[in-house]
Amino acid sequence: MRIILKRSPCEEAPSCQGPPLLPSPSFQELSPSHLSPDPCTVPGKTGKLPAGLFRPLTIKEGALSSFATLPCYDQQSDLLRFTVDNFEINVVLGICDNNLSGWDVVHDVATLSQAASCAALIDISGHYKYPVEVTYRYVFREILLAHERRHRADFETTVGQWLPDLQKKIAAVAVKCAEVQSVTEAATKGRNKLIPLFYSFLTSVVGSYKQITNTQGYEETTQLSVDSEIRKLRNKLLTQCFGGSTP
Ligand SMILES: [Zn+2]
Repeated sequence: MRIILKRSPCEEAPSCQGPPLLPSPSFQELSPSHLSPDPCTVPGKTGKLPAGLFRPLTIKEGALSSFATLPCYDQQSDLLRFTVDNFEINVVLGICDNNLSGWDVVHDVATLSQAASCAALIDISGHYKYPVEVTYRYVFREILLAHERRHRADFETTVGQWLPDLQKKIAAVAVKCAEVQSVTEAATKGRNKLIPLFYSFLTSVVGSYKQITNTQGYEETTQLSVDSEIRKLRNKLLTQCFGGSTP
């Protein structure tokens, strides 16, 4: 007779090495048309259709992409614990081209003629305002995009602020060795315990981010923060308008 000794998941799993890592998120950028309805077709706070937008996805919309749950055996407590090192957060960022049909959207300043460059100099100054003030007809795509990227940066900062809290909660998740038959089952069980933690993490992040965006003057301040991008384009336009000679 052969006796087969079945190893318990706790013997099978690698041992936990030190405290759990700070989970590291990456951000997946989707275009607005990914969502339905397309948020570009929904008027913003001002009642106008947006020129561009940034927003995190809701949980229902699929804010969180799959993440790997790796069980490890914690000898001290004789429990299976879990590590999650990478995960993905889905956000929407883009320019609403359909809402800009009344303007001349400049993708590349170098394509503008001398006369157009002179007119565009007036319009680029209007890009310090939010919403952008257009005297002639030029809207600069790069600047609109830079504005949305500032929102994304604020969102990423908010995510970073909530990460240690998520890390603490992940560290507290445990499964008893006797509760599961295999490491795979442990991973599934751990994952089911972790999902609600990620959801509440996202809810906290989005709540904090909303608070920031609801601050009075937030949009205007964001627009002023793209100053270096505006200045860069303005300098190019100056050169093209005055043909490189000192005005
Ligand atoms: Zn904005």
